[in-house]
Amino acid sequence: MESRPLVLGRYSLGIGDRFCMEGKAQLRAVKKALDKGVEIHPVWNKSNREHTIIGTEPISTRQEADAAAAEEQWKCSYFVDADHIGLKTVDRFLDACDYYTLDVADYIGKPATAEQTEICVAELTPILGTLKHPALDQQITLTIQDLRAFTAKYLFGLQEAAKIYEYLKAKKGDGTFITEVSIDESTRPQSPAELYLFLAGLAKKGVAVQTVAPKFSGAFLKGIDYVGDVKKFSQEFKSDLAVVDLAKKAFGLPEELKLSVHSGSDKFSLYPHIHALLNQYNAGVHLKTAGTTWLEEVIGLASDANGLVLAKKIYAQAFERIEELRKPYETVVDINVTNLPAPSEIAKLSSPEFIAILMHDRTNPRMNRDFRQLIHISFRVAAELGEEYMNGLRASRAAIERNVTDNLYIRHIQPLFLGGN
Ligand SMILES: [Zn+2]
Repeated sequence: MESRPLVLGRYSLGIGDRFCMEGKAQLRAVKKALDKGVEIHPVWNKSNREHTIIGTEPISTRQEADAAAAEEQWKCSYFVDADHIGLKTVDRFLDACDYYTLDVADYIGKPATAEQTEICVAELTPILGTLKHPALDQQITLTIQDLRAFTAKYLFGLQEAAKIYEYLKAKKGDGTFITEVSIDESTRPQSPAELYLFLAGLAKKGVAVQTVAPKFSGAFLKGIDYVGDVKKFSQEFKSDLAVVDLAKKAFGLPEELKLSVHSGSDKFSLYPHIHALLNQYNAGVHLKTAGTTWLEEVIGLASDANGLVLAKKIYAQAFERIEELRKPYETVVDINVTNLPAPSEIAKLSSPEFIAILMHDRTNPRMNRDFRQLIHISFRVAAELGEEYMNGLRASRAAIERNVTDNLYIRHIQPLFLGGN
């Protein structure tokens, strides 16, 4: 019997956490939205990079998600995302996941063969011309020169996405998993025209992409607000919504195809604009936020005396190891080392003082974005502390869970999906 392909839905939220302890607290935030009539599909994601750093296997994320859904009696769908995988890394995610983020950023800018290039140009030439859409302030004209420039830059990446997709289809079966294609960790943003051609290319190669993560202009850094021109971002996001809508209709891509925003947590200055545009154009979005939950864990820990000692210890070690810790996150953190407090200064702080520096409260002038980013990438240190850290997490359960739920619901879900603060 043919079963319907998996559907991601209009709104979805990438959650997940480093140590697989916060599934229930995260799900409670999504349930609060459902109580208000807004259905958001949770997607537990943990990238290959994070599993490798912590030394965990993807099955632990699946177990966390299933347990949370059962205990919280979650009746809507939910997914487990193999985040940022490629052909070399996908195998260990085959059993545990039903959502795959095919990361082809590293393949962009590398040349495809001349023969493949000519085939692609011939395939896509019929779609050239003028794009018009209510969300486009100016029409976009695509010429053969644009197509050639696009092919030189993106064809190799398209081929790689198709290879991973075919591999997954062969291993798991058609329609049994959600497909995201990500190019957010590439070095340059894509223009709306490039995004349109990229989606056209995926469609021609048979990749039933359900969500696509472009690199937007401005900086999407881990755990801090958007750095860039908000007005320019809104304009770009609006144009991207238009080309996604045009592409899915023109190329028979899944009806629910939508944008995915990575390093999407804490982009507080963008959420009201994204919300308004989604409403205006009846569009959906996927927002990935896993890292912010780890920061809430540290904040929760720091709220009692024993946990505070542990949180300070993590910072002191991270401060010494910053170069090593930021290496895997080169494109997504920007830490000004001279603005980091010395561990000896941090050691003197009370719980409220420590939390004030770390908590992402935009009205608090003490919040230190460099400190936050360093803590964001310091979960390797926590993982090395092993049982000492896990015991801390258990001891501070109530404070941590309250923080995790409130942070997701009040700071993320309300402004982005519900509107208003
Ligand atoms: Zn990403």
